[in-house]
Formats: sequence, C-alpha cells, structure tokens
Amino acid sequence: NSTLVAVEEPIIPPVSVKHTQLLINGQFVDAASGKTFPTLDPRTGEVIAHIAEGDVEDVNRAVSAARKAFDEGPWPRMTAYERSRIILRFADLLEQHTDEIAALETWDNGKPYEQAAKTEIPMTVRLFRYYAGWADKIHGLTVPADGPYHVQTLHEPIGVAGQIIPWNFPMLMFSWKVGPALACGNTVVIKTAEQTPLSAVYAAKLFHEAGLPDGVLNVVSGFGPTAGAALASHMEVDKLAFTGSTDTGKIVLELASKSNLKPVTLELGGKSPFIVCEDADVDQAVELSHSAVFFNQGQCCCAGSRTFVHEHVYNEFVEKARARAMNRSVGDPFKVGIEQGPQVDSDQFEKILRCIRSGVESGAVLETGGDRFGSNGYYIQPTVFSNVQDEMSIAKEEIFGPVQSILKFKDLDEVIKRSNNSRYGLAAGIFTHNLDTANTLSRALKVGTVWINCYDVFDAAIPFGGYKMSGNGREKGIYSLSNYLQVKAVVTALKNPSW
Ligand code: ADP
Repeated sequence: NSTLVAVEEPIIPPVSVKHTQLLINGQFVDAASGKTFPTLDPRTGEVIAHIAEGDVEDVNRAVSAARKAFDEGPWPRMTAYERSRIILRFADLLEQHTDEIAALETWDNGKPYEQAAKTEIPMTVRLFRYYAGWADKIHGLTVPADGPYHVQTLHEPIGVAGQIIPWNFPMLMFSWKVGPALACGNTVVIKTAEQTPLSAVYAAKLFHEAGLPDGVLNVVSGFGPTAGAALASHMEVDKLAFTGSTDTGKIVLELASKSNLKPVTLELGGKSPFIVCEDADVDQAVELSHSAVFFNQGQCCCAGSRTFVHEHVYNEFVEKARARAMNRSVGDPFKVGIEQGPQVDSDQFEKILRCIRSGVESGAVLETGGDRFGSNGYYIQPTVFSNVQDEMSIAKEEIFGPVQSILKFKDLDEVIKRSNNSRYGLAAGIFTHNLDTANTLSRALKVGTVWINCYDVFDAAIPFGGYKMSGNGREKGIYSLSNYLQVKAVVTALKNPSW
C-alpha cells in the first residue's frame, strides 16, 4: 500500500490507506479465498492499495453476522433513543475525520478534493444526523376498523438489509443506504463498488468506535457478478437496495425475485432534461446547466444531460455554454481551484470517448472539447455539442461523462413530449420565471425530481428516485423509512365493544 504523495500546492496533508480488509462482525478479516484486487488512482492508473476481494463465502459470513445481530443482538432491541445517539456520535466522528475521508475519496475516485471536503462529506454527515432524528419518531397507527376490534399497526424493522452502491459518490451513497436502514433498527451488509472501496470501510470503522454493536454493519468489497450477485440472491437477506446502472438493476431484481422475493429498491440511470425557456435568465441557466452536466466529472445519475434551449435564446446560450466549458479548470483534483478531475477508471474513460466519437459521426456540432485532456490518467476535455437531434445516441444514452448535448425547441408541448420520450425518468430542470410554464412543465414531466430555477439540490429531507427505468422507490426524507420497515397489523377483539 502506498502513501499519497502531496502534489504541488497541496491542500491536504498526505494520507495513507489504513483499512484494506473486509469488515465482518466488527472485525477486519481477509477474504476467505485470500484474494485481493488493486484499487487504482485515476490520476495516473497506478495502484493505491490491494483490497480484500469478497466473494460468495464472505457474503455468507457477513450475512450470518448481520442475521445474528438482528435476531439475537441488542440493536433492534435497544431503545430508539439509544440507536439515535450512536448514529449521532458516528456523525460527529465522521465530521471530525472529514479531511481524511475526503482525501481517500479523491484518491480513489478522482473527484476534486475541495468538493469532497466541502460538499459530499458534510452532506453525508447531515444525512446521518437527519436519520438519527427519525429513529425515535417511527411508530404505527391506531386504525378505526369496522366491528368490535381494536386495531393498530406496528412498524417493525425488516431485518437484514443488503445494499449495493456505486462509485460516483461512495460516501453519500453509503449514507443514503445505511442511514435509514440503521435508524429503523435493521442490520446491514453493504457491498462497495470495486472502483472505490476505501472510504466506506473507513467510515464503518468509525461507526464501531461510536458504539455500534458488532455485526450490525458489515462491509464487503468485491466485484458485482460475484459478491454483488451473492448478496442479491441470498436467502437470508430480507431487503435489497441498489444504486447503479439500469442494466445491472435488472439483474439484481431478477436475482432477488428468483431467490426469496426480497423487496428491492432501485436507483438507476437517467437522461434528464434541462429546459431553458425563452424568458429564462440565460446567464444563470448557462451556469447551472454547466454544473448540471459537468459536476462530478459528469458522473451523476441525475446529470442534466439533455439541455433543451428555446429557439429564441438558443444562439446566445450555445455561445455562452461553450465559453463556460472552455473555462472549466481541469487537473489534479488535489489542487486548489480545480473543478474537474479524471474519470473514475479506464472503462468509463474509453466509453465516454466512444460516445463523443458517435456524437461527431452522427452530425452534432462539436463546439469544444472532444478528446482526452493531457496524456496521463483518465482526464477528458469538457465537451459541448450543439445541434443535437433526439434520435442521436448522445441524446438517448447515458454518457456519464463531461459531455453537454444542446437541443433546440420551439414550444412547450413539443419540449414536454421530447423530454418524456425516454426510457428514463429521474430528474428535470426548468428555467423560467413564468409561473404557468413552470407549473405546466413540472406536472407534465414524468420524472422523480423537478428543479425549478435550480439544479442538484440534495437536502437530506428531499426524496429522490426515478420514474420508468430510472428505478423504483424513493431514498432520503421520510420516504426512505418505508423501504426499511415492515407494517404489522394487530387486531384485538374487544370484550366490551360498547366501551
Ligand atoms: P457502473 O456500470 O456504473 O459501474 P454498475 O451498475 O455495474 O454500474 O455498478 C454498481 C454496483 O453494482 C457496483 O457495486 C457493482 O459492483 C455492482 N454490480 C455490478 N454487476 C452486478 C451484478 N451482476 N450483481 C450484483 N451487483 C452488481
């Protein structure tokens, strides 16, 4: 394992990788097979560390630990207030370790350190505090049923939650999954993405320092078709939560149904419209459409990746969007002022370059970018296409990279139809000051989130999830609690119904 070498103008102290093993039943352990896999630095492609490669046997061990912790352990039995206090203590520890975790995140994923430290880790802390607040406010109802019965519902934890997370926001995805599951009293086995195994296991260790009992939170690193599939198809996992691509979502849903019919929440891909109406503040729309696409190197499921611009402001918008992309600061994500680091790995890097070539070949106008940035690592030039047509694959397929596709529209009905003409339905941005336009669009668009004159607002209390093939279920907010609770109806006959 190497130690991160400080870059020129470093903004962080050097950090080293402390944990490379699986965390099962409160203990760090090697994979049963003894195998490891390398996790790479996307700035260079060099090995950061060798990580224990979990597989079926390790998932079995982790699920047994979680099962025992649920069936026999103190976690679901302690008072909700005690659970809440442990989650709050963990949030405090996480906050105290922000610099170190953000550095691991940048090293493993390539995202700008400043964004990780100032945005992602604080949002993760906030999310855990939000769900700690829910822990002692979860309760059932009294139901006025017909007949001589006293009827109540009990909201019980569902059991062992299996969770599979992606590499684009490793800590935030960890929080969206683990926060509500633990607040409701469940136990967890989480599989991290093979590209970014470093931060979650570090955080899980802190959780144990905060007083989490052994076996409640187990972290298995490893690959999707082995460790991930073992978790999705495990007979002792009571619930599965998945975030990743739509293709993999279909696989895990099938594995879940073929095994024990565990309920599955899916947060999948998107091709979200960002609609700039003729009355919009063009400068604001340019800036927000830029960040809606390019934030996190374009690696966001809800990236505003179809920029629809009204014909009256189209030319001005394209010119300004191009200028903004040309100004984007790309470089070592550990340096001050860097907006864009490298893509996460060579697969993503190659895939994005293929998408860019397809855009050029299909006749879209390449306004800027279009190639790799520099000669080392997985950096890509901020790329803008104009004159994009709906049938081009850059307008239909998720690129997951720093590529903006600008499309022209004439009227509302047209942009509604074209926006909805997608297998995805994750999010949409609307830029207008006209109340009727905003209301019409927000009701007509088949998406899980509508942002009006803003984008990427991710408060812990705001639910997030997709229509259509962008997934099912909602995470965050009050809505995520129902993913992790069973409802039990308790019906008691009344001896003296007149009372
Ligand atoms: P991406 O293509 O963006 O890497 P994936 O959907 O493949 O997205 O990955 C998201 C998560 O799903 C990762 O943790 C990955 O290991 C896991 N995964 C990939 N394939 C499978 C599979 N066949 N079964 C279960 N999990 C999988």
